[in-house]
Amino acid sequence: MQAGTFLKTFIEMRWLRRFDSRQALEAYQTRQLAAYRAFLQEKSPYFRQGIPADFRMDKALMMRHFNQLNTVGMDRDEALELALESERTRDFSPMKGEIAVGLSSGTSGHRGLFITSEQERSMWAAAVLAKMLPPGKLLGHRIAFFLRADNALYQTVHSALIRLQYFDTFQAAEQHLELLNTYQPSILVAPASMLLELAKLRQSGRLNIAPQKVISVAEILEEADRQAMEASFELDRIDQIYQATEGFLACSCACGQLHLNEDIVFVEKNYLDEGRFYPLITDFKRRSQPIYRYELNDILVENPDPCPCGSVFTRIDRIEGRSDDIFVFENAAGEPVEVFPDFIRRCLLFVDGIGEYQAAQLSSRQLVIAIEHRSREREAALTRQFQQLAADKDFLAPQLIFKDYQRDRSRKLKRICRI
Ligand SMILES: [Zn+2]
Repeated sequence: MQAGTFLKTFIEMRWLRRFDSRQALEAYQTRQLAAYRAFLQEKSPYFRQGIPADFRMDKALMMRHFNQLNTVGMDRDEALELALESERTRDFSPMKGEIAVGLSSGTSGHRGLFITSEQERSMWAAAVLAKMLPPGKLLGHRIAFFLRADNALYQTVHSALIRLQYFDTFQAAEQHLELLNTYQPSILVAPASMLLELAKLRQSGRLNIAPQKVISVAEILEEADRQAMEASFELDRIDQIYQATEGFLACSCACGQLHLNEDIVFVEKNYLDEGRFYPLITDFKRRSQPIYRYELNDILVENPDPCPCGSVFTRIDRIEGRSDDIFVFENAAGEPVEVFPDFIRRCLLFVDGIGEYQAAQLSSRQLVIAIEHRSREREAALTRQFQQLAADKDFLAPQLIFKDYQRDRSRKLKRICRI
């Protein structure tokens, strides 16, 4: 860790960098953008000839032009080999010089590769801690960090002042009980599905921890799950970090509302309707691997009302899942009808006692619905819900195939997905 970079970033973000108006923020972003574009044209071979005005990138472009894009001379195949080996051995310590390599856990089939320099890791750790540490007490926290894969990026948080213990989400929550009970984390960070399992273990009395802060990461936090976690951990709220390999994109404020981290990333909004948009992100500080006008697949739902916390950063009501999670049905004329994941979720939420669930679309006429406490009544109730939705949205009701819910621990939890 670069202590100087860490401290400078931490102090700036925690206490100094304040924007009292949207205009002040935008002026700051304009300066940062200009500096970033100049950096890219100088250091990234891909941008040496200039940056086209309509340039956009996504995961596929990133992977295809990896060698020309990155500014540290990293070879894609070599980096991929290193990252895959780490996944196989579950030993995530090997690095290439000071560059850490990781795989993004995309469910879309093609994998993304991400690299970070020591300086970037120090800045990332400082930004996360500056935004997420509870007010007042800064030192002596014990953080329990549940992740699919460890990475030097995350280990950077660990220091003499703050302890961080990595827990592998590849293993069931049960297997972490003993260590958690001994470690007694003051801050618990985990994907929503893991938090839910831990919440149940605490409810049953087997998990005896009392974290001051519980932070959901990496997966979409469903409203019902959030409430169950709040009750089990006896907290007023569950915090959220919206972190992708593309950057530290958003986190919840003192009022429990999610805001984009517009002091770190510049977000262009591609609107689908009045409130929903796909973000196009530029991470000013990402130098080893350019993130410039990068298209994310998540749908964000904006909240236009000012937040009581006073922040001028865009307020996000919720993250709605990936673009491939929009379901496409057919109407009587054979035309496609798009349905947002929220509506599918709602069908499931209306039926009592389902517990864990997952809905996947096989085709425009077939859905697989996996639920935890399966029964004839619940299946009938769900069938009615989907018939109602089909009538409301004017599409042909799909055939529902019911299954028992089983959690695949090796993949990100997606409640609503297409196959
Ligand atoms: Zn706020």
